[in-house]
Amino acid sequence: MVKVRPTLLRVPASVPGGRSPGTASLARNECPFGLLPAVARVLAAANAATSRYPDPHATGLVGALAAHLRVPADRIAVGAGSSEVCSQLLHTVVGPGDEVVFGWRSFEAYPILTMVAGGAPVRVPLARKKLDLDAMARAVTHRTRLIFVCNPNNPTATALDASALRAFADRVPTEVLIVVDEAYREYAAATAVPDALALLGDRPNVVVMRTFSKAYALAGLRVGYCVGPAELIAEVRKAQLPFSVGALAQDAAVAALGERAEVARRVGLTLLERERVMSDLHELGYPVPSSHTNFLWLPLREASSAFTEFCLNRGVAVRGFPGEGVRVTVGLAAENSAFLALAADWTAARRFTGR
Ligand SMILES: *Cc1c(COP(=O)(O)O)cnc(C)c1O
Repeated sequence: MVKVRPTLLRVPASVPGGRSPGTASLARNECPFGLLPAVARVLAAANAATSRYPDPHATGLVGALAAHLRVPADRIAVGAGSSEVCSQLLHTVVGPGDEVVFGWRSFEAYPILTMVAGGAPVRVPLARKKLDLDAMARAVTHRTRLIFVCNPNNPTATALDASALRAFADRVPTEVLIVVDEAYREYAAATAVPDALALLGDRPNVVVMRTFSKAYALAGLRVGYCVGPAELIAEVRKAQLPFSVGALAQDAAVAALGERAEVARRVGLTLLERERVMSDLHELGYPVPSSHTNFLWLPLREASSAFTEFCLNRGVAVRGFPGEGVRVTVGLAAENSAFLALAADWTAARRFTGR
């Protein structure tokens, strides 16, 4: 019998749950508008180069990101989605038994990738649906190597402001890496939610992580990146799986960066829909917190699983977290309306049965 690392026995296997045709997919926070036009053109062009290995250093993509972000290229590392970037960061600083602190609930990948890397996850409960930075700073011990700060937070859609984030970074010892995960940056108002790169980008222990999977509509091609101090990034690059970002993914991400206006237009549509769905949910009596993302959080507690199943049986896939709440992605207007109709049916049915 092969001896498997005990840590993996504590990692839950991911359950297959594909999409079914005809079901509105509001469960994965994807962009509902399809490929950006420039990306569609790149992918449609016959690309003989994919019979060869891609550029392992993603030179073109890193250069385009450097220009886009106005930072030197040696401060950027890329990966197959920001999920791989998370894993690279963990493998850069976490040894067996080292602690990784994050809010909970937050991005599901944090505890899994931490355990796969051999680290010990430390989950710090949210306070009023927000990351409790005070408690997170207090959770830091001599074993802590990395802290994930998901801002805005998935799945609660809440965000931290600049002064809270700066004060937190001031408190954390500089030998502990702070990773600010900004997967939803594009959906947050610049006035309400700080750009961590602008706010903390000059710190020796801060890395800002972003992705092409959400506002750039490239979830299927797997491209993410992080920006940090050049010395650390040189190590993070070593922890990437060789060639993990494919040739088409690199080209598509460069094309996507060029679509600034279209990305902004789509984000604008999503924000209008987000406010419509939220105000309708409020009218129906759902206590939905303000969202700084492309999804909404319904804190339905014990009713979460039943609500999720109720929606799925009627053609709308949402993401339920049993006992906690339901996360609903803002999709196309028709999908959102279909969801709102179900949310109204749900409250009507419960009022009728007196529950
Ligand atoms: C969706 C998401 C990501 C992005 O994951 P990819 O691997 O880039 O697709 C990262 N962080 C959070 C919090 C997310 O919700």
